[in-house]
Amino acid sequence: MVDAKRTQALAKLGVDSIGDLVRHYPFRYLDLSIVADMRSVPTGVDATVVGRVHDIKVKHPRPRLSITEIALVDGTGALIGVWFNQPYMASRFRVGERVAFAGTVVFEYGLKQMRSPFVERLDDDGDGPGIARILPVHRATEGLSTNWIRRLVTEALALAGDVADPLPARIRAQRALVPLATALRDIHFPGTPDDVDRARRRLAYDELFAVQLTMRRRRQAVVDDIAGIAHEVTGPAIGALAAAVPFELTDDQKGALHDILGDMASERPMNRLLLGDVGTGKTVVAAHALAACADSGAQAAMMAPTEVLAMQYSRAVGPLLDRAGVSWALLTGSTKRSDRDRILASLADGSITVVFGTHALIQNDVVYQRLSLALVDEQHRFGVQQRLALRAKGVAPDLLVMTATPIPRSLALTLYGDLDTTYLRVRPGGRTADHVSTRVVPMSGRSDAYQSVKDAVGRGEQAYVVCALVDESDATQARAATTEARRLQRQVFPDLRVGLLTGQMSSADKIEAMERFRSGETDVLVATTVIEVGVDVPAATVMIVEDADRFGLAQLHQLRGRIGRAERPGTFLLFADPKTEDGRARMEAIAATNDGFELAELDLRLRGEGEVLGQRQSGVPGLRLASLATDGDLLDAAREDAAALMAEDPHLDDAAHVPLREDVALRVGAAWEWTSSG
Ligand code: ADP
Ligand code: MG
Repeated sequence: MVDAKRTQALAKLGVDSIGDLVRHYPFRYLDLSIVADMRSVPTGVDATVVGRVHDIKVKHPRPRLSITEIALVDGTGALIGVWFNQPYMASRFRVGERVAFAGTVVFEYGLKQMRSPFVERLDDDGDGPGIARILPVHRATEGLSTNWIRRLVTEALALAGDVADPLPARIRAQRALVPLATALRDIHFPGTPDDVDRARRRLAYDELFAVQLTMRRRRQAVVDDIAGIAHEVTGPAIGALAAAVPFELTDDQKGALHDILGDMASERPMNRLLLGDVGTGKTVVAAHALAACADSGAQAAMMAPTEVLAMQYSRAVGPLLDRAGVSWALLTGSTKRSDRDRILASLADGSITVVFGTHALIQNDVVYQRLSLALVDEQHRFGVQQRLALRAKGVAPDLLVMTATPIPRSLALTLYGDLDTTYLRVRPGGRTADHVSTRVVPMSGRSDAYQSVKDAVGRGEQAYVVCALVDESDATQARAATTEARRLQRQVFPDLRVGLLTGQMSSADKIEAMERFRSGETDVLVATTVIEVGVDVPAATVMIVEDADRFGLAQLHQLRGRIGRAERPGTFLLFADPKTEDGRARMEAIAATNDGFELAELDLRLRGEGEVLGQRQSGVPGLRLASLATDGDLLDAAREDAAALMAEDPHLDDAAHVPLREDVALRVGAAWEWTSSG
């Protein structure tokens, strides 16, 4: 039944085995037990109608446009299914046959219609309205009809659906979860909508549980299984550094330092995430941790995702380290060959204590004499593998991960569930939440907005103009930014100095552009989203974002964090004319709050985790049914259960738990590095 061509088509859907078929869950259901009649079905809503094909038409109103219309009738009226440029649809129907259409009903040209409805052909002798039946719709692909996949899933369930349940019965009972075999049957062929809910809940729990077990395991492997370095945290270097800091730490910063130094003083390796919205002052906290390494005769590496950021660290932290007598270096992709050789030698013999850098820090030939602290900033820009790679440069070094991307709690628990967390919530210097004001500016408000840039420059301040996300390609964005910079210089700001920064510029040019802006040689910096991460120019107080409604909330919030970094208040101007509901919702949200964590929750609810993670994250492997936006209660249950189970059987070696361990390994795969040996 499964020939080579179909095997290939199945592989395209990620289905290679009977097990995969069983897990090829439907993406929607047609509830034929609540079929609407054609006369009274309301427009604008999703509905299912059943009728007989009355008429089949293919029209060609214009060259290169074909419209296929299939008219269905039931006892009450008619409804037309419409397809554009899919003339072959006509051949799929016979006049007189019974079919179901599912889709959104629209009213046009005096007729009820559905555009490209989902079609289900109903056997004439079979079920119809009145007989309760929910049809699953599985993802299909070219060469594989939905019907065919449905038959195949039926067979797979018969062969493999009656599986042993790896979830301990105690947990299943406590969480009121249906047995696995029931869940698998009902997710594909439910009798009622409640069946779907119960099945989904069980299968989603399994996904979240597997991730939580893996996180626990990963944590055990670094924290419990190997002894690390007990740092000296009250030595002379940290004392001198603290004395050199020109301001008093906020209570949040003091608290974070307490957590971090407490971990560092212990032999158990630190495994901590420092979450602080932009501008909350993570850098100076990190500086103290670096100095503790000097006092302990060890080394620290601080890794940033971009060169601009790595340079900024050396600029901000380097002088503090100098005052504390701690040797340091900067190592990036553009470090000169001879300098690099010298730095590598000094790292290997221990004469350099602290190194700032980019991915250059984890290259194979970089060897540390005694790396005791791995510090990773803007974690979301790196994958788990890079975090592990830096850590692997030492023997069980402490790990401190920092991020300015406020992620919702559910996501933090899932992505970083193996890390302890510390939050910085308050911005230093008594800057309140309204230190930066946000305004959405329509087309008509542009000249006023440009005037506020001129006013700011008049006061000795500076401004950013962030160009639209034209498309995903760096090249197109760079072109657009270049054109915009020229236009602004000539037509809008002839008396100001306009600079340009794009991802396409060479690394040296980027650094120079940033330098000129920082030193005040340029007044206005036109940029693509390269500036999003970490850049700190205190005199910048105004930012304009073009086509702001096309940006994600997290990204806009990051951008906003670039201005108003010193005492002077900031103005964040969003040029936007949102056409979609979603775009409007995002503009409202960003204008309504400056709280990154609140925004992150909103973002997750607006877009779902797939989108929130986007291209930046390595993703959350194994989550198919579970939703981090809506399954918070299940996540908490899974987390609690994972902790309890692994406290009792840390490696899941107990014969009763081996099937579970194997199931988890299969689900999350090598990416999550489950190991039973530690
Ligand atoms: P982020 O958390 O975004 O990395 P930074 O560490 O870059 O923030 O700090 C933002 C700005 O606030 C910097 O200019 C820094 O010098 C300043 N800063 C940090 N802590 C304090 C403090 N306790 N008091 C005053 N200014 C501070
Ligand atoms: Mg930072």
